[in-house]
Amino acid sequence: MQPFVGMTIKELEAVAQENGERAYRGKQIAAWIYQRGATDLEMMTDLPKAFRAALAENYTVGLPETAHRDSAPDETVKYLLRQADGQTIESVYLPYPDRVSVCLSSQIGCAAGCRFCATAQGGLLRNLTTGEILGQFLRMQADGARRISHVVYMGMGEPLWNYDATVKSLRLLGNEVGLSFRNLTVSTVGVVPGIRALAKEEIPITLALSLHAPDDETREALIPTARKWKLDEILDACAEYVRTTHRNLTFEYLMIGGVNDRPEQARALASLLKSRKLPGNVNLIPFNYVETPQGFRRPERESVQQFREELEKAGRVATIRMTRGHAISAACGQLRRTVEPKLPKRPASEIPLALQTD
Ligand code: SAH
Repeated sequence: MQPFVGMTIKELEAVAQENGERAYRGKQIAAWIYQRGATDLEMMTDLPKAFRAALAENYTVGLPETAHRDSAPDETVKYLLRQADGQTIESVYLPYPDRVSVCLSSQIGCAAGCRFCATAQGGLLRNLTTGEILGQFLRMQADGARRISHVVYMGMGEPLWNYDATVKSLRLLGNEVGLSFRNLTVSTVGVVPGIRALAKEEIPITLALSLHAPDDETREALIPTARKWKLDEILDACAEYVRTTHRNLTFEYLMIGGVNDRPEQARALASLLKSRKLPGNVNLIPFNYVETPQGFRRPERESVQQFREELEKAGRVATIRMTRGHAISAACGQLRRTVEPKLPKRPASEIPLALQTD
């Protein structure tokens, strides 16, 4: 069985023609899947019955099954989605007053090995296909009442190590689903060839770089791939991205208590970005708890505030990312490959007070 999800209008038109129908039938299928929320061929009632029956022999819509759903008090929903081969991934639905955003996974597991991230702990199993990346969006859209307007590729995996499927899924979200490319954000650990290739795609998405440290030494202690690609080379690729796309970047800065949260590190970060003439905001992400051998901990609230002030004093706009979904381990860095749905939710008493009030 071949899934429809992941195919462009053109590819669906070809399928229609191969099955003895006119090309516009492909457009109809695309509209059903990408805009009208069809999860099954049977829902496509304006296709001739015989055509639907012929399609059903070889094709399915191909959305993942929801193996488990967990809702947090802040209305964040974490999905455990089962793929056709039985493997599961996590995706997150994030409703805000003015918009709905979803966080998608790009791989099953991850090979980057970041010391602070739960996904890294199980290693990489495989890439997701274009349809599996998009299937997460469509499953959550079919489930939720509100229209999803924003997508961040910040779930499991490194999107630029699954480059072709990531780029095709971005194009489908912009062209077939109809989202604004500006509302699509790809976050990367700093895969230099991927950043350079993305710069040439001519899709005006937002690129977010997981910077996390102002110098290579600190960065290498947190991110093993930092040994391969030094800040110098990564920031050069980012400058090229800005030059060709005219888009600002977002710099993500994960803050770990006592590791990278000192005021002088904020000043070093500001001058690093300034010396490279790189535009873009810094998004500070206080560490979400993941058990680590190093015993990483969340920074003090005051350090985060001070870090932000230092950046702003140096002329750099900085925001602090609100923690969402922490009660259900759906926050950044807490997504894993396998989750035992029967495990009890973490009782609220185990969540540090500082987080509960975020
Ligand atoms: N591989 C991509 C995207 C996935 S992670 C990347 O590295 O950017 C999305 C963001 O969550 C990254 O900035 C990542 O560094 C951050 N993150 C990972 N673990 C975290 C944790 N425990 N607490 C807070 N943020 C974390």
